[in-house]
Amino acid sequence: MKILVTGGAGFMGSNMIHHLMSRYPEYRIVNVDKLTYAGNLDNLKDLENDPRYTFVKADISDAPAMDRIFAEHHFDAIINYAAETHVDRSILNPSAFLYTEVIGTYHLLEAVRKHHIAKMIQISTDEVYGSIMNGEFTEESPLNPLNPYSAAKAGADHLCAAYAHTYRLPVIMTHSCNYIGEYQHPEKFIPLFITNLIEDKTVPVYGDGMQMREWIYTEDHCAAIDILLHRGKVGESYNLGTNHREHNINVVKMMLAILGKGEGLISYVKDRAGHDVRYAVSCEKFMKEYGWKPKYDLRESLQRTVDWYRGNEWWWKKIKNSDDFQKYYNKQYIQREEQPVA
Ligand code: NAD
Repeated sequence: MKILVTGGAGFMGSNMIHHLMSRYPEYRIVNVDKLTYAGNLDNLKDLENDPRYTFVKADISDAPAMDRIFAEHHFDAIINYAAETHVDRSILNPSAFLYTEVIGTYHLLEAVRKHHIAKMIQISTDEVYGSIMNGEFTEESPLNPLNPYSAAKAGADHLCAAYAHTYRLPVIMTHSCNYIGEYQHPEKFIPLFITNLIEDKTVPVYGDGMQMREWIYTEDHCAAIDILLHRGKVGESYNLGTNHREHNINVVKMMLAILGKGEGLISYVKDRAGHDVRYAVSCEKFMKEYGWKPKYDLRESLQRTVDWYRGNEWWWKKIKNSDDFQKYYNKQYIQREEQPVA
């Protein structure tokens, strides 16, 4: 089987490539990634010289490049992880999000159509449903994105649904809860906090920290996508959730406990604009149809993630010491720490 993974130099894309390469030695993987600030070839260092793996630096919004790559490789399936993914950056500057999520997905859909690809898995997010105070979103829930990132992802979802309907394109969409695990860029909540705590720095909690998120460990996510790649029904959409939901502040306290640090390192900062309060998805459809269940609860996922960041300082220190990260961190958090919490 020959598979295109887009955004494979990012967090979950690289985990998925590792998953496929270790489980299916006969597969060929092509990783197409633009290498934005979030793309990191260090994630795939061990595969650099593996003849089963090919990296191509390209933008999914570049139609001629996509056409060339699809014509050359004859993919059996594609998994689209490529996206701008940081909500805070989408609030500072939404344009790159629209460009990659909407225009990029459109060009991939066109390439899938022209080159008769048998399956496309579109990796979307639970954030497209918006915030829910009680209960859970199902696959029938309307999309109600509330920030520029989730609006751009929802735009891509609509395009995928329209192509599946109009052209009978073999697309499967997933709406997953938050990922947790190894190789996540340290600008994001969990790795930012773990690495700050390792360095005995404060951790910037937005508002009162009572926002609630649902978490899935990398290995569980990859196992779910593996099922859809091999057995998933095209034309369907699946929520990927675990029921492992927790208020952010409690997740912070779990991280403090694992790392043996005190609550004095918590710094409450001005909340994110329009911050979604609670995400929760029902994963019943996927669990029932495929018998999938998450292996790891939140505590175990956090422990494994902390262990990985502890053992891989070479990986994250390089990123945290970069100019891009320093500039972003100062703007996003240091200036915020100087403002009183509303
Ligand atoms: P990430 O930011 O770590 O990686 C994204 C990758 O996409 C990077 O390697 C980047 O270089 C690449 N990329 C960006 N624009 C591109 C373009 N135009 N062309 C080619 N490559 C491009 O992201 P992630 O956290 O691994 O998320 C992967 C996917 O999963 C995204 O679609 C995201 O919306 C979705 N998702 C993420 C989460 C989460 O908690 N991180 C939860 C649910 C869904």
